[in-house]
This record gives sequence, structure tokens and C-alpha cells, in this order.
Amino acid sequence: MSVFTVAADQSVCAPLPVLGRDVTVPLVTGGEVTYAALDYAASAPALQRVWDDVAGYAPYYGSVHRGAGYLSQLSTDLFENARRTVAEFLGCRPDDQVIFTRSTTDSLNLLARTLPADCQVFVFETEHHASLLPWQGAHVTCLDAPRTPQQAVATLERALAEREPCGPALVCVTGASNVTGELWPVRELAAAAHAHGARIVLDAAQLAPHHPVGIRDLDVDWVAFSGHKLYAPFGSGVLAGRADWLRAAEPYLAGGGASRKVTRRQDGGVDVEWHESAARHEAGSPNVIGAYSIASACKALTEAGWDTLVAREQHLITKVREGLAEVPEVRILSLFGDDAPRVGVISFVVEGWNSSHFAAALSAEYGIGVRDGLFCAHPLVRTLLGSDPQTQGECGAPEAAPGEKSLNAIRVSFGAGT
Ligand code: PLP
Repeated sequence: MSVFTVAADQSVCAPLPVLGRDVTVPLVTGGEVTYAALDYAASAPALQRVWDDVAGYAPYYGSVHRGAGYLSQLSTDLFENARRTVAEFLGCRPDDQVIFTRSTTDSLNLLARTLPADCQVFVFETEHHASLLPWQGAHVTCLDAPRTPQQAVATLERALAEREPCGPALVCVTGASNVTGELWPVRELAAAAHAHGARIVLDAAQLAPHHPVGIRDLDVDWVAFSGHKLYAPFGSGVLAGRADWLRAAEPYLAGGGASRKVTRRQDGGVDVEWHESAARHEAGSPNVIGAYSIASACKALTEAGWDTLVAREQHLITKVREGLAEVPEVRILSLFGDDAPRVGVISFVVEGWNSSHFAAALSAEYGIGVRDGLFCAHPLVRTLLGSDPQTQGECGAPEAAPGEKSLNAIRVSFGAGT
């Protein structure tokens, strides 16, 4: 849980439209205030261990792969070691590739560029936009929101059974929802996909910080996650999994590092031989610090022990849910019901309150930082709120007047890593 203190000399006043009035609420009036930042699902605070590792590496910082000097050699070594650490963290198969990207969004867009011709993509409407939208050029089937994990599997089975059986197909599914925190039946969905000759990519952006993600154990073909949700700083992510589609596709970005040999043709054009390794999709100077910090976070979580982390987080989840249950006006949003296994991501609405105003007041008056809006999962939040898409505004906009039905929600999210 990220709790920090703000010193008196950092006091700020925040003009806030609380309850429809523009009032200036003193955030810190003097002395020290404890502020709880509970927005881990957006970005979790980086671990001290990660900052320490990065600081230890800073004096030896160098560009990777092509330098003969000591710093370049060392940095190359650390970069490739980081790849091995991530492969271990994910329990990768020997032939899997680990590609460093900018984020989950970047990873899934990369995979979308590698789809074979005529690939059909199956995705639930409940996905975060990062998993829902990258496939737009392909033949996409958007599946209805299921109300139980069993219904999710049955819905996917039915959709896959109806498709033309011969062509390639990809299922994209999230491991844990960024809105409800609920765990999805990944292993069962993977089995259904494979039984119908499809492949599956797991959006582990919200799962990886809370549970071990075993690529072999879950039997998924690819996993994508972001460093900044896994207690590393911003700017790096991972796509790991089957090498064949990745190798067969044009590089995600054309440029140095991705190319093995470039020659000028007689006719004035240029011929390129691309790498077949992960470097094929890592053109340009890679984010070595990003890769190094993801690896550092992976090691820290593994060393802390998943049993300990999960138990601590489940305790926090119970406390927060019990606290919310004491407020009659609060309705927790859920697809799969109260008993569904979940991670520390809880969204709710408060009857009679505009969610944006409520979230602003939590920060200003109680020192609790949460998020409000539609959480980049518009179809899911609309389904959960039972609202009409025509009356719903943009992500984060305070639409409902005080006392009216809320058109967006409040999300509190945390983890046991810090
Ligand atoms: N998938 C899920 C489930 C998410 O919650 C998020 C971010 O909130 C993403 C994907 C996108 O992650 P990023 O913004 O790091 O690319």
C-alpha cells in the first residue's frame, strides 16, 4: 500500500468542483498529512529495490549490442540477462521469445502486426482498450460480456466452433480486469482456444503484479505486461511467447538493430535481411534501463514470495470490501459476483454522488488518491453501470449532476508489492 507523507512546506490548495460548487479545499493545512495513493492499477509505485538497482547501474550506463567498449559490453550483458530473468519469471518455453516493448499497449499492437493473413481475432467486449482495439485491421469477433467464468468459456467455445475451421485464429483475453479486479479463467479459455485450433494471448497487465503468470502453466501462446504496473518505472513492457508468427512478420519498426544485413541494389533500392531473434521487433536503441528495472522488479517479487504477497493482498481486499459494504450508498461493480477470486482492484459507485466529484473529495478531504471514469474499458463499465452509450461521455468526464445516477465509476486499487 503506497502511503506517504507530505511536508508542510509542500502544502497545496486544490480548486475542486465538489458537489457542484467550486470550492478551494486545502489539501495540506500545515504539519504532515498522510496520503494514500490507491491507483496501482494505473501505475504502481516503483520498488525501492528497483530504484537502488537502477542507481547502482547508472555509472555504467551504455548503449547495447554494437559497442566494443566496456560500458557497452556490460550494458549488453545486463540487457540480455534481463531478458533471461523475464523468461524465468514467466516460465517461458525454450523456444519462446521475450521482446522488450514500451508497454502492454505496445506489446499487443506489435502482436497485431504479426497476425498471419486471414487471421480471425476473438475478444470479449469487457477488455481494456489496449486489448480490444489493436486488432481493428483483422477480422474481429467481439464477444458479449459473460456473467460467470463458465459463461466466458462457453461463449468462446461457441464462437470458435462457428468459425471457418481452417484459418489461423487468435483469442485475446485479460487475466485480471482493470475495472472489477476479477480473475478470468485463463487456463480454461486457453484450453478452449487450442481445442479449436486457435492461439491465445494473455493481457497480464493487471495479473502479473498480483499473481504468478506461468506461460506454460496457463498454456497461453503469448503474454503481455507493463513495467510500470509491476513496480518498475514507466517506459518498458514485455511481449513474450511463440516465436513463429513473430519471425514470419515484418519488423514492428524498421531500423537499426532489427536488420542483420542491408545492401544497396543496382536499381537504386535497398535489400534488407532482418534478424530472426527478438531484435527483429526492437529496432532503434533499446530502453536498457527499462528492461533492467523490469527484471529487477521480477526478481524482487519472486524473492518476496507469491504466497506471502497474495495472502497480504487478499487481506487488504477483504478489509476494503468490508469497509465499503458498511456504506449503504456504495455499489461495488462486478461481473462474476461477490465470491469471484479477484486482485486489489475495486470499482464502485456511490448513490447520489457524481463519481468524479466523489473521487476529488476523497483526495482533497481525506488524502486518498483514487481514479474515476470509465477506465479505458468503456463497453465493460457501461454494462456494469447499465447505462446508455448515447448518454455517456468521454473517459473521465464528470457527466452526472450531483444526485443523478452516476455515469462513471470510482476505482481504488492497490497491491502488496509495496
Ligand atoms: N491491459 C489492462 C488490463 C490494463 O489495465 C492496462 C492499463 O491500465 C493496459 C492493458 C495498458 O497498459 P499500458 O498503459 O501500460 O500500455
